[in-house]
Amino acid sequence: MKKILITGGAGFIGSHVVRQFIKNYADYQIINLDKLTYAGNLLNLTDLENDPNYRFIKGDITDAVFIRELFQVEKPDAVIHLAAESHVDRSISNPMEFVMTNVIGTVNLLNAAKESWKGDYDNHRFYHVSTDEVYGSLGETGMFTETTAYDPHSPYSASKASSDHFVRAYHDTYGLNVVISNCSNNYGSHHFPEKLIPLAINNIKNNKPVPVYGKGENIRDWLWVEDHASAIDRIFHQAKAGDTYNIGGHNEWKNIDLIHLLCRIMDEKLGRETGTSANLITYVTDRAGHDLRYAIDSSKLQNELNWTPSLQFEEGLAKTVDWYLENDEWLENVTSGNYQDYYKLQYADH
Ligand code: NAD
Repeated sequence: MKKILITGGAGFIGSHVVRQFIKNYADYQIINLDKLTYAGNLLNLTDLENDPNYRFIKGDITDAVFIRELFQVEKPDAVIHLAAESHVDRSISNPMEFVMTNVIGTVNLLNAAKESWKGDYDNHRFYHVSTDEVYGSLGETGMFTETTAYDPHSPYSASKASSDHFVRAYHDTYGLNVVISNCSNNYGSHHFPEKLIPLAINNIKNNKPVPVYGKGENIRDWLWVEDHASAIDRIFHQAKAGDTYNIGGHNEWKNIDLIHLLCRIMDEKLGRETGTSANLITYVTDRAGHDLRYAIDSSKLQNELNWTPSLQFEEGLAKTVDWYLENDEWLENVTSGNYQDYYKLQYADH
């Protein structure tokens, strides 16, 4: 499989996947298909601009005609599908956009792949990158496995669950060679500052309140984004058709504990007195339908495909902070304009 269409390659995780594939496979051609929504940014990939194995195509996966033509012209051997609306808070205020991109967009890609690869499904692959949020919420114990029943609660997770079901249905019904992975929360460089970690870094840097939902009791498992990309690489190349893998860091953190750790790292990096950043923590009204705890069991991936996360959390978080402090221009670029309007609306009371 030499020509790979990566959707959403200008986003946070997609840009890391594009970079790893270009770096690891000198004989692959990578096409990055991205609409460049507020979350997509070609500044994430400036280092690849002149790479002969990399090409960017601007396009919208909700446009079925465009997607069909793209497959006819480019004839990709495989798809790694990451394009999505990805922010839970935005899904609460605008669920239809999530249905359009995450559900309709995925089905458009499946239809184009089915038509274009007909008669030769074995030599093509459709990889859907999904989330652990499809499994719903856990109590104090237990972990999500690949056989946990889907129980999504937010419009975002409902749209991702739906797209997972469509991907599986195209395998079971038409024999399309598909794989799915469901990953926990990612962190690292190039993460849009609407999400917890980059938002907190940006606000601490600018001495602004750091909003924490509810009492900060919600628990998430965190994985270094480059480890997610390496898991995708392994699954893409080694998984059986129709298979599913959970990806996670075995690294559960209560939001408030994570924010305190981040505050300590920021105080140190910015040369501020210990406790300065923590004074910025501000509790805000909890997110509607906020899942309490996610924890993911990735032992199938570890045992069958011999994958392990490479980075310990505190080290990864410190590296992430360094990246944001060294990349002012990137941060200014993504936090000007529309971001300010979104931020005011989201945190109007605080
Ligand atoms: P992101 O929001 O940073 O990037 C999404 C990308 O998709 C952007 O570049 C955007 O421009 C593009 N896009 C959006 N709508 C499009 C459309 N209609 N047509 C073409 N491109 C479009 O998201 P991310 O955090 O990088 O997540 C990537 C994928 O991984 C998503 O499918 C998400 O559900 C999944 N995922 C994310 C996490 C996480 O922690 N961020 C965890 C598990 C799974």
